[in-house]
Amino acid sequence: MTGPARRWAVLPAAGRGERFGAATPKQYLKVHGRAVLSWSMGALLAERSICGIVVAVAAGDRRFARLPEARDARVVSCIGGARRELSVAHALERLACAARDSDLVLVHDAARPCLHRDDLRRLFERAGRDPAGGLLAVPVGDTLKRGVQGNRVGDTVPREDLWRALTPQLFRYGLLRRALMLCLTHGRAVTDEASAVEALGLRPLLVAGRTDNIKVTEPQDLRLAAAVLGGRR
Ligand code: C5P
Repeated sequence: MTGPARRWAVLPAAGRGERFGAATPKQYLKVHGRAVLSWSMGALLAERSICGIVVAVAAGDRRFARLPEARDARVVSCIGGARRELSVAHALERLACAARDSDLVLVHDAARPCLHRDDLRRLFERAGRDPAGGLLAVPVGDTLKRGVQGNRVGDTVPREDLWRALTPQLFRYGLLRRALMLCLTHGRAVTDEASAVEALGLRPLLVAGRTDNIKVTEPQDLRLAAAVLGGRR
């Protein structure tokens, strides 16, 4: 079967948020009365061109089903894995009977509630046309130091050409699945989807994104997210 590429999304949301240190996993903490995961799902659901969203949740998760966004007809869930890349792989597997290799699949961290629709659209426009796919990223603005002997400065690392990789990241379904499977089979570290695609020798496109697309990692990030989202109301 052929036809225009359809757009799918995968949200890894199976982390336990150990670095965050709260009893509730960070994707379920509230920002302006709404779970972080609700904000990140809401940003994708607002884009009507996305035809289905798979959310990978931890085994035994009882919170997901209670989110209003979980009842949307375009949303399904699957059980995630012990590492982020395994959660993504499970979600891609869940899409196997619906998605074609040439379809586009976007992967977005559940812990990034501040995704702006302009960034999402720009990513689709630019990376959607690129055979290697692409990702939202931000050029590094700070001076970078390499630490040695605990926390002494070893040297200053030139920051030209350095970018911070964000999500969403967008690839053809078949390419991403193959890239991820290869890395998992060879035990290669995969901290984002682009690194799996890079391992195939491809060069995904860096699409400049907003700096306020933060990932909630530490407690102070929740306050930042509240300020960003509050400012958009
Ligand atoms: O821990 P970190 O912030 O890097 O996690 C990024 C995203 O990956 C989060 O949305 C988290 O829920 C998800 N994740 C996952 N499965 C894991 C670990 C993390 O889906 N085993």
